[in-house]
Amino acid sequence: MARVPVKLVSWDEIVEWSRGLAERIRESGYKPTIIIAVARGGYVPARLLCDFLGVENLVSIQSQHWTEAAKMAERAIIKFPYKLDLRGHKALLVDDIVDTGDTLMLARDYVLREWRPDELRIAVLQWISSVAKFKPDYYYIEVKEWVWFQYPWTRLEDTMQFIKRMVEETYKETGKREWTYKEIVEKFKEWYGIDVGETYYRDALRMLVEKGVLKVEGEKYIYTP
Ligand code: AMP
Repeated sequence: MARVPVKLVSWDEIVEWSRGLAERIRESGYKPTIIIAVARGGYVPARLLCDFLGVENLVSIQSQHWTEAAKMAERAIIKFPYKLDLRGHKALLVDDIVDTGDTLMLARDYVLREWRPDELRIAVLQWISSVAKFKPDYYYIEVKEWVWFQYPWTRLEDTMQFIKRMVEETYKETGKREWTYKEIVEKFKEWYGIDVGETYYRDALRMLVEKGVLKVEGEKYIYTP
């Protein structure tokens, strides 16, 4: 049993889900004239929706809540507030997933108040219906049990944070500080139930060494609390 429920999402799945989402939007009769990507998770789906729906106008807004993989910050904020005039536009606000929904609700309220589109609808690839505070206008997949979706655009960031958490917690539980590469990979697979491949493990370890979380001694990685 994995310690954290994680599902690895492939690029192919992202394309398939975005195409399916576009289909639902088209079927509803809504014809957005501008897409607003919620940074950072909404960038790839928003760009694909532009393609699949034939929308040329794409802007973005950064609303942030989760600062670390599978760990929530206290509250969502609009990172770079700025003014736009979207009067006359039918807008589509796009993100990867509605989990708590805080990020999107904040972005929606900001856009309606400050950018004033004639109409605004919300589209996401996934909606965690058991925890979300609202239901988006469009979603492709309804998720009933909470899982961390390891999207392809956060693979390195997530891998790094997952390894960091694993070595920190193992140290707290057992006092272990020395790890071989092989041990890290094996434990990672056990803890998270996914395998991201050697390139990601190596890059994540290099970043953790740069950050001073791990030290290299010969063949070993040493956790430095
Ligand atoms: P939230 O405000 O809780 O709806 O989540 C804000 C953002 O955090 C989402 O747009 C995702 O980029 C990321 N996120 C939250 N929950 C998950 C999850 N279960 N899996 C992957 N990414 C997530």
